[in-house]
Amino acid sequence: AELAELEARVSVCRACDRLVEWREEVAHSKRASFADQPYWGRPIPGWGAAEPRIVIAGLAPAANGGNRTGRVFTGDRSGDWLFAALHRVGLANQPTSTHAGDGLMLHATRMIAAVRCAPPANKPTPVERDTCAPWFRRELELVLPTTRVIICLGKFGYDALLTALGSAVPKPRPKFGHGVEVPVGQVTVLGCFHPSQQNTFTGKLTEPMLDAILRRARELANV
Ligand code: SF4
Repeated sequence: AELAELEARVSVCRACDRLVEWREEVAHSKRASFADQPYWGRPIPGWGAAEPRIVIAGLAPAANGGNRTGRVFTGDRSGDWLFAALHRVGLANQPTSTHAGDGLMLHATRMIAAVRCAPPANKPTPVERDTCAPWFRRELELVLPTTRVIICLGKFGYDALLTALGSAVPKPRPKFGHGVEVPVGQVTVLGCFHPSQQNTFTGKLTEPMLDAILRRARELANV
């Protein structure tokens, strides 16, 4: 119930002028290939299991991805990569994520973005990141009792997460890397390269590399 209340409250947040303008402009103008689809165009709450063992944290939703479907990390090329991998390792019921009514479900896993609104060029400013941090911290607080692993997609998501976890993070803070494991209380934070086209096209992130992280998460979370 508390998660549902948080979702309802965050979905009407208008604290960041630049992001409110951008999310609504993109939702209004729409990409041509999605012209026949509704756009969410609002802040994206976390989604997936209410009592997750695994949390996947990233920086922010994509303008024509999460900002369209209302579910973070779905509906764009990065989402295609991620959900194909989640399906391969048994954490999602299907390998694709196209729109909000596609029947996609996660197993023991919840997705959360550190910044809830799609930013221009996929880059929130430090002020926007900090403005959104209380929403992120509150959601983490609600799911931490059951969570054993948090996978961070990319360095920005990793930094935002370790900041949100606060004083329990070991000092000095371990540097981000693919496969880095940071124990924070009962949770292991796992670093993973972001499945952006920049990383997947260049081979910096391969399917076996992504699958290995997800399998490690399952092992650590015992799911
Ligand atoms: Fe609100 Fe976060 Fe969206 Fe800013 S990014 S408007 S704080 S939900």
